[in-house]
Amino acid sequence: MRHRFIPSLAAALLAFGLSNPVQAADKVNAVASFSILADMVRNVGGDRVEVTELVGPDGDAHTFNPTPADAKKLALADVFIVNGLGFEGWMERLETSSGFKGATVVASKGVTPRKMEDEHDHHEGAEDDHDEHAKGGDDHDKHAKDENDHDHDEHVKGEEDHDGEGEEHAGGHHHHHGDIDPHAWQNLANGETYVANIRDGLIAADPDGKAVYEANAAKYIAALKAEDEAVKTALAALPDSRRRIITSHDAFGYFGDAYGLEILAPEGVSTESEPSAKDVASIIRQIRDDKIPAVFMENITNPEMLEQIAKESGAKIGGTLYSDALSAKDGPAPTYLDMFKYNVGTLTSALSS
Ligand SMILES: [Zn+2]
Repeated sequence: MRHRFIPSLAAALLAFGLSNPVQAADKVNAVASFSILADMVRNVGGDRVEVTELVGPDGDAHTFNPTPADAKKLALADVFIVNGLGFEGWMERLETSSGFKGATVVASKGVTPRKMEDEHDHHEGAEDDHDEHAKGGDDHDKHAKDENDHDHDEHVKGEEDHDGEGEEHAGGHHHHHGDIDPHAWQNLANGETYVANIRDGLIAADPDGKAVYEANAAKYIAALKAEDEAVKTALAALPDSRRRIITSHDAFGYFGDAYGLEILAPEGVSTESEPSAKDVASIIRQIRDDKIPAVFMENITNPEMLEQIAKESGAKIGGTLYSDALSAKDGPAPTYLDMFKYNVGTLTSALSS
């Protein structure tokens, strides 16, 4: 913003080692935590906003470790746009260490959070009715609520207590009842909420741009709605027997809920913990028992484990899905909308045949 570029601040910028500030003096300086949000902010902000992302294309925000250069980016920002729902476990520390004085916009504010079921329980008994189990009994829900508050906080701080606590359920889980699934952007209807929050955050930071942000957001939300319909139409054609798939980590829960697929993952909701040999074995058993047609790699995870699972189970590798990051500009999923088009194309071509 223009008021930041007074002489003393320019001197401070030089002291930071930024000889060439990237922001034009009259633009809003927005930092987005990861590439998918950055694309949304560019769509809403247009020419009025300079957008920087912390976790870039094909990057893993779960395991991101901010550098002093990231703190400098945030120190200069007017607005910091984050996903929330515990996705950016490193966020609060970075805000504090950077001395960030702007406004933080939580893009997921208002979406209905998806609680993580303990997928590992499902694999223990092949005769369990999966759907019934997923809904859970009263105890299950109550347990999730009871644990949720303090677990969530712990999760955000990145402490390692969970494994010990998780063991009281059935042993050796990487996540447990009550964890919040942060990947809400994988439902385009939630994407509309993200865009509305970003619009409101930009208006608060730059009231003069209100009309521009409202017009850009309305146009973009209309495009998200159209894509949402297109995804539903494309996936509605899949037969019921080909609606259960495997991905690397549990990033597609909201996608599955919205578009009628069941998506299982050996790696859990975060990529921070490795799956155990037992988890991998139970996935392989489930693929065989349920005749799951395909496994899908993800752009942010190492493909080796999925390749091993495919080889040992006989499932085919259906391709790569974009989960937590966009591709580079010259890749197949450089924008949020492109990500859905590419993922749905990958899913339908692997599952229709
Ligand atoms: Zn993820």
